[in-house]
Amino acid sequence: MNSDHSRCWARYRADCDRGMSKEHLLSKCLFHDQTVHVSGFDWCMGEEKCVGINSLQRRFLCEKHNNDLSDADAASKQAIDAFEAGGSEFLLNGILLERWLVKTAVNLSVGGNLHIGYGMSNSKPGWPSPYMLAVAFGDEILCAKMGAYFLFPATQYKHRTSEISIVPIHRDGQIGGFVFGLRGQFIFLSLYPGHAPPSVDTLAPGLLPPPIGAAALHYRPASFRVQVAGGSEGKIQLRWPHT
Ligand SMILES: [Zn+2]
Repeated sequence: MNSDHSRCWARYRADCDRGMSKEHLLSKCLFHDQTVHVSGFDWCMGEEKCVGINSLQRRFLCEKHNNDLSDADAASKQAIDAFEAGGSEFLLNGILLERWLVKTAVNLSVGGNLHIGYGMSNSKPGWPSPYMLAVAFGDEILCAKMGAYFLFPATQYKHRTSEISIVPIHRDGQIGGFVFGLRGQFIFLSLYPGHAPPSVDTLAPGLLPPPIGAAALHYRPASFRVQVAGGSEGKIQLRWPHT
């Protein structure tokens, strides 16, 4: 067992245990087709990387901390299955989903040259600030208009339903948010305090195809409908804390 916890990104919680885990950058249970599209991180070298799940493995969380995030992993699986399936009703825990978005954003950014979040106190590049760490582990909930904004395009968009994609949006060495494409549902995770962006196009023109990029952003929606291939419709409800 590797008991050197110095590379665990949660080590400032001061309770690392049980050696380093072989953590996947993205929860392995999410993949049908074994690939994920990632671009915009410095390690992508300016290209869209379409990478197999097994190459997305790094040891950068200890077993204890990896395990502490398993509730968030389970919530993300439930959410992504719901986005894809339609035809049924789902009740999702929004805050657990946000914790997974934050955890995944950190996983993909650790060791890079960008700050994770805009203007966070005690932040350094490629490492979660104390606030990001507290959010990932559920001690804090994102506030000041930060968190999950769901994109609802005005016109139908034929997405690649099996696709999962993640792109950071950054300026001046700081990541202000991440765009997640989760099997047809796009979510912007805002890490830019005090701002409610009108659309992804206003932040990063041309990043997403037109109907998606121009889609209105809805902050922590209570419910919405999904339309999936074959015309079946599903209703998704999300629970959020009263903030
Ligand atoms: Zn740890």
